[in-house]
Amino acid sequence: MAYDPVQRHQAMEKLVARRGSAGEERKYYRFRPARWYGGIVTADCVGCGLLCRFCWVRDSVMLHPADIGDFYPPSQVADKLVAIAENCRFKQLRISGGEPTIGKAHLLQLLDRLKGKGLSFILETNGIPIAYDRSYAKDLSPYGFVHVRVSLKGCTEKEFSALTGAKPDGFGLQLESLEKLTQAGVSCHPSVMVSFSTKKSLQALMQRLKAINSNLAEKLEVEELILYPHVAKRLQKYGLRYDSGHKPNKVPREQI
Ligand code: SF4
Repeated sequence: MAYDPVQRHQAMEKLVARRGSAGEERKYYRFRPARWYGGIVTADCVGCGLLCRFCWVRDSVMLHPADIGDFYPPSQVADKLVAIAENCRFKQLRISGGEPTIGKAHLLQLLDRLKGKGLSFILETNGIPIAYDRSYAKDLSPYGFVHVRVSLKGCTEKEFSALTGAKPDGFGLQLESLEKLTQAGVSCHPSVMVSFSTKKSLQALMQRLKAINSNLAEKLEVEELILYPHVAKRLQKYGLRYDSGHKPNKVPREQI
């Protein structure tokens, strides 16, 4: 049965975020330099409110958030990110591996620590917490070094539900997050996983984005499936057919 994506995010927050003596803590399982965006320091957090069937995160992490990773206060996460950035001479930071907007207090305290370091932060999100938490977009607006990339799971409600197993109306929340971010003046753009979409559904998405803000349609980034072996197995299990995809070592340069 399809799950409620808002309830699942809220339940996940109870597992992976908590109050600590040095601020709001969040669970992470890895800190690393990564090849994306031409080089970006990445903290992999634990926990997401969606269960995307094409997600690169392994089931051992995705399905067992209580058993994986450790809690870190914002100061420790900031120190680790900045140290790797200095080592690798990278200028960009991000949180991946799960949904970084779960645990808003932790994220905002982390951004406070990163302010003024001359680094930029790419907030990759499914957007759902930004839609259901009325003040989230506004709370992100003071951080000029943050750019939000809202990763849409398909082009329509139906595709969203097939790709995530969640109730279809979660797709509307994804779009709503873009509306809220735009209204709050937060730098953002949408990306969309199109490997499972038709041309017609992509065109329909463009129209919906244009109706929110014409810039969003222009800035739409197209994502294609990366066929890690565990992802290919998962897609087979769910009987999901795709039209395009790349082997991990053959991702086109423009998608890295
Ligand atoms: S929203 Fe992102 S992190 Fe969460 S399951 Fe989907 S692809 Fe994975």
